Amino acid sequence: MELRFSEDEEAFRAKLVAWLDEVVPAVGPPPPVDDWDARRVYDCAWQRQLFDAGYAGINWPIEVGGLGASPSEHLIFLEETARRGAPDVGLMFVALLHAGPTLIAEATAEQKAAHLPAILRGDEVWCQGFSEPQAGSDLASLRTRAVRDGDDYVINGSKIWTSNAQVADYCELLVRTDPDAPKHRGISWLILPMDTPGIDIRPLRSIPGTDEFSEVFFDDVRVPVANRVGNENDGWRVAMVTFSFERGTAFVGEMLASMQLVEQLAAVAKKVTRGSGTAWDDAGLRRDIGRAAADLDALWALVKRNVTQATRSGVPGPGGSVFKLYYSEMRHRLGELSERVFERAGLALDDVGGMGNGPHVEGMLHAISISIAAGTTQIQRNIVAERILGLPKDR
Ligand SMILES: Cc1cc2nc3c(=O)[nH]c(=O)nc-3n(C[C@H](O)[C@H](O)[C@H](O)COP(=O)(O)OP(=O)(O)OC[C@H]3O[C@@H](n4cnc5c(N)ncnc54)[C@H](O)[C@@H]3O)c2cc1C
Repeated sequence: MELRFSEDEEAFRAKLVAWLDEVVPAVGPPPPVDDWDARRVYDCAWQRQLFDAGYAGINWPIEVGGLGASPSEHLIFLEETARRGAPDVGLMFVALLHAGPTLIAEATAEQKAAHLPAILRGDEVWCQGFSEPQAGSDLASLRTRAVRDGDDYVINGSKIWTSNAQVADYCELLVRTDPDAPKHRGISWLILPMDTPGIDIRPLRSIPGTDEFSEVFFDDVRVPVANRVGNENDGWRVAMVTFSFERGTAFVGEMLASMQLVEQLAAVAKKVTRGSGTAWDDAGLRRDIGRAAADLDALWALVKRNVTQATRSGVPGPGGSVFKLYYSEMRHRLGELSERVFERAGLALDDVGGMGNGPHVEGMLHAISISIAAGTTQIQRNIVAERILGLPKDR
């Protein structure tokens, strides 16, 4: 691993920064979280701008339309887009960060041609239909059934916690195609067009008060067999590929945004009054804010290591679980820190007296979901124990 950047990489950075400085100021702030149509337009438009400028699919291979960037260029891209306040990946999250990469690794030439260019252009939003009411951590217990009927599968069952289902064009869907096989061996991975008749999306309200995920019900939904990725009943293996990408670098953008939250917290602490001074006079608070900044620096070093390893082997390894585990715990500590700085204003999502508390309170609530989404903290610990430390398997 080379932690310093070469001259060529610094030239890549300079060109990217010049472009970001030119375009980002004109992009404007993101729409309200509950305005799904506006969010879709905003996120897809940014993806289109990246595409037109040649930055779409930064780490995707050149043969599928990506930039084929080196790990260092990928890291520079993540760092500078976050630092310059460019929109984050938003609703393109599933498409760009794990469905697309899974298609690159596993799909047929026809499937790649049908979806990868559209994802890169910002024309396709995807969601993930993996979890079910009785199949979250124990995902292999999923029961949504797909029965072969000629050239189609007919799907019945339901999914839950499907993020962004209401604006998605496609879903990466796990279904049970052989109910008699051992649970990991009877699953298939399908590309489901979300406008197929028989799909009922029922949004669920989450703790920050938004409909970020939904229940999705399937009533005789017909999907062509040609939409299956990988062999029939080999979907568990394909899902593991998806997970490796989801836990690999998918949280990196938000981790970089957390660095900005820490800087803002320090700035606020220097202003808010406590007794005759400010919150910053508290040595314990200063130490904890410093610790948060140091944690994020360490995580950034870990990301560099993971990205380098992933590029070598094509698919991210279990190091993504170490990152996800430590990052989610760090976000909980950051939430507690913001409560200490904002005190009563830390109970309000609305801004109190221009303090800028809203994003921090939102961040604190979001931290709860980070330790559950994409595999809970306990599941990440199991992965680290089994796949990195070589401890005996969880039964
Ligand atoms: C914000 C958010 C967005 C999400 N988006 C999506 C999405 O788009 N698509 C999708 O498919 N899913 C999504 N999920 C679902 C997520 O993947 C599941 O919530 C997660 O896998 C946990 O499953 P569960 O909720 O059923 O909890 P359970 O699996 O029931 O777990 C309950 C508790 O038991 C613990 N536990 C379970 N098994 C073990 C074990 N073997 N060892 C130790 N502890 C264990 C867990 O860690 C947890 O604390 C999302 C979740 C959140 C919070």
